[in-house]
Amino acid sequence: MSQTVLVLGGGVGGLVAANLLRRHLGSTHRIILVDRESSFSLAASYLWVMSGARRPEQVSRPLARLKRKDIEVIHGEVEHIDPAQRAAVVAGVRIAADHLVIALGADFNAHAVEGLSDGGLTFATLDGATRLRAALSNFRKGRILILTAAPLYKCPAAPYEAALLLEAHRRRIRGDQIRIDLHTAEPGPMGVAGPEVSAAVRAIVESKSIGYHPDRQVVRVDPAERVVEFRNGEKVQYELLVYMPPLQVPRVVRESILASAGGWIEVDRHTLQTRFSGVYALGDVTSIPLSMGKPLPKAGVFAHGQARVVAHNIVRAITGTGREANFDGYGACFVEAGGSTAGYGAGDFYAEPRPSVTLHRPSLLWHAGKVMFEKYWFWRWL
Ligand SMILES: Cc1cc2nc3c(=O)[nH]c(=O)nc-3n(C[C@H](O)[C@H](O)[C@H](O)COP(=O)(O)OP(=O)(O)OC[C@H]3O[C@@H](n4cnc5c(N)ncnc54)[C@H](O)[C@@H]3O)c2cc1C
Repeated sequence: MSQTVLVLGGGVGGLVAANLLRRHLGSTHRIILVDRESSFSLAASYLWVMSGARRPEQVSRPLARLKRKDIEVIHGEVEHIDPAQRAAVVAGVRIAADHLVIALGADFNAHAVEGLSDGGLTFATLDGATRLRAALSNFRKGRILILTAAPLYKCPAAPYEAALLLEAHRRRIRGDQIRIDLHTAEPGPMGVAGPEVSAAVRAIVESKSIGYHPDRQVVRVDPAERVVEFRNGEKVQYELLVYMPPLQVPRVVRESILASAGGWIEVDRHTLQTRFSGVYALGDVTSIPLSMGKPLPKAGVFAHGQARVVAHNIVRAITGTGREANFDGYGACFVEAGGSTAGYGAGDFYAEPRPSVTLHRPSLLWHAGKVMFEKYWFWRWL
């Protein structure tokens, strides 16, 4: 009998899930993917847009391309989720399914900090990275202040990579009169990956004449005076403010019965099942606690791995074949370090008593790996 799988969100996790479902299910079954955006862009490449290594159109593709694979694409806002009925309302229309996959990610909330969006630019969106590129082309003198505006943000490596790429830009243009400072709300880089990885990333940053100031929670930005004020009372003047925004749970999830006390969706950490039968959530919209006290980071590599597991288990439920798959907490990421080099961190984030992660030192090889990864991504999933 024909079944319908409804995938909410056409980002990293949603795309992987929809593709794999389509590949392994016969054409009698419907795969529907919904997104409010008409195109997908790869966030892992935004820092290259910022640095000028990519143009915006090189890192995005229309979601409508999925139609050639027989995936139905609906361009619209998910307005309501009804997990008990495995249904959603999209742009006023109710869509019911046999299996529901929620991959709606995490929303940015720059407005949580007064003055932040008016006073600075972010590399966390394609538009922001494009505007930063333009701002950098005229920037020759003064302080670039890089900021993580809250301890929880997407991709633990990204702000550190941003600092290293901006430093490489400074060297390239011989910007002797440019000073780079990185102020972070968290106490150290990539803390979830353990003290060794954190110390190694910190050493790389500090070896590049970047002023590193951990444990600095911004409380407000004064765009007129170009001053950032921190919780400890410190005020820092800047000429160019570059920030990683705070996150918030997507409104439609926050208002649904799926939201946990913290807002994010709680799932079984191995199967990504919610407490509703046939309803799965994966990627940034979930919160998976680790025994060391921090949640699993919000990173595409996890959304990707979880989507594989969810797609496999839905195929299994429909076809009655195969064994149940489990997400193992393995994750890896490139850490761009400038000058066409990158480090590479990889390991088991479900390891006890804390994640077991190794960081390989920056080299040309890992940077080439990231370039290949980007090509593979678009070839494979869009
Ligand atoms: C600058 C930067 C660099 C990064 N680099 C890396 C990296 O190198 N490696 C890595 O692993 N991760 C990286 N990440 C993190 C990675 O991009 C995210 O963790 C990943 O995209 C999460 O996947 P997801 O499917 O959960 O959510 P997303 O990819 O964010 O997809 C969510 C989708 O849901 C849609 N949506 C949301 N709400 C609605 C709604 N109400 N109606 C309709 N559609 C909706 C959105 O439009 C979006 O397309 C980076 C992030 C940033 C910002």
